[in-house]
Amino acid sequence: MTQPDRTEMLRALPSVDTILNDDQVRDVSVTIDQQILTQIVREQIDAVRQHVLEGSTVSDPAEHVRKRVVSAVHALQRPRLVEVINATGVIVHTNLGRAPVSRMAAEAMEQVASRYSPLELDITSGKRGGRMSEISEQLRLLTGADASLVVNNNAAAVMLALSALCFGKEVALSRSQAVEIGGGFRVPDVLAQSGATLVEVGTTNRTYTRDYEAVISEDTGALLTVHWSNFRIVGFTSQPELSDLAALADHYHLPLIEDLGSGSLLDVEPFGLTHEPTVTESISAGVDVVCFSGDKLLGGPQAGIISGRKDLIERISAHPLARAVRADKTALAGIAETLRHYIRGEAFDHVPVWQMISADREFLRLRCEDWRSRLHTQAGIDVIETASAIGGGSLPGETLPSWGLTIRSDHPDAIARSLRTGQPAIMPHIEHDQLILDARTVLPDQDQALIDGLNRVLTSS
Ligand SMILES: *Cc1c(COP(=O)(O)O)cnc(C)c1O
Repeated sequence: MTQPDRTEMLRALPSVDTILNDDQVRDVSVTIDQQILTQIVREQIDAVRQHVLEGSTVSDPAEHVRKRVVSAVHALQRPRLVEVINATGVIVHTNLGRAPVSRMAAEAMEQVASRYSPLELDITSGKRGGRMSEISEQLRLLTGADASLVVNNNAAAVMLALSALCFGKEVALSRSQAVEIGGGFRVPDVLAQSGATLVEVGTTNRTYTRDYEAVISEDTGALLTVHWSNFRIVGFTSQPELSDLAALADHYHLPLIEDLGSGSLLDVEPFGLTHEPTVTESISAGVDVVCFSGDKLLGGPQAGIISGRKDLIERISAHPLARAVRADKTALAGIAETLRHYIRGEAFDHVPVWQMISADREFLRLRCEDWRSRLHTQAGIDVIETASAIGGGSLPGETLPSWGLTIRSDHPDAIARSLRTGQPAIMPHIEHDQLILDARTVLPDQDQALIDGLNRVLTSS
């Protein structure tokens, strides 16, 4: 490109006022604060100028700026966290926000968010009351734990428990449990950050109770055990029974702390899955402090829960970090409402994660048949058997037999992209170039939107 062309283009860049007075920009300007609009216009003029200086050819700089401003304003109106139809078959899907909460939990969260509530007030006495009392009582009835505390997430729960109970002390942990759970959560790093010293015991595949006992000294602050949430060690392995570890900890007057991960309150075995330890089992085995997530198999909003011995929970609550990582009122309301489903014995009917885990297979097949019958065309669409997963780093490699719709196509990725970019977005499962919509994870009230989305994509492809 010659120098004069570039000068021409730079000269043709519009002024801020020209853009602000453009008809199309005026149309969108009612939806945005004027100062912010002016700022956007400036930024877009600068961006186009930069393109030109870097050598790009911009045929109509004013038109170009105008388009960029309009689309930037539109983008600001669109929330990023829109509804997604999860047809991947992965129930606790981390990239899709883990557990969807029950209708009642969502309503409780909405209510507490938009109104005042007695968060730290005892309504009867009019005095200050604890924000954890309701959940603590619910969990006592459900798991047998004396007391509980709710924080931001399980990572915070573990960090807080270790900071409060083990700062400046040694913590004995099986070598097989010095693991990484997910981005940013590595047990050795969390221990170091809590001011505790990790003392690895046993070997990668075999650790015995006596290995813990061998390292106990007056510098020991706790025994720690971490659930293998997202991997398995098979073959020549050995781990002590939780109750044996608890007895050992008791004997030396040390707390046994457990990072349980998913924190299930119900047994997944009846659904053909391998046993996933429950909070109740940990408490009854004698674990003193158990940490788990609120938004994995519990099925509530994001939270971390610390349950256990009252004196220890009180010490943890009094630690300065407790205030920094405490759960907000909407999370508390959502967790309490979720726990109420368990208290009423209706988790399988109301907690979405458990509705999905316990969904009847024949019902899933019929649902797929119904979807198929409502499509404009049935050509290339079949109802097939597929496999769902728990996800969220629970029960790795295990699946629940399920049913789905498959769309035969030479371009499954292109179809997946159209489904993803629709409104609402539809996330399919793709395996060996086959595109499948697993019925298990599609919420019942999303059927019509799914059909509409499919019809749109099938008609246009
Ligand atoms: C998921 C998990 C965590 C992290 O929990 P978040 O709620 O995501 O913070 C920590 N430890 C274990 C064993 C887990 O499974």
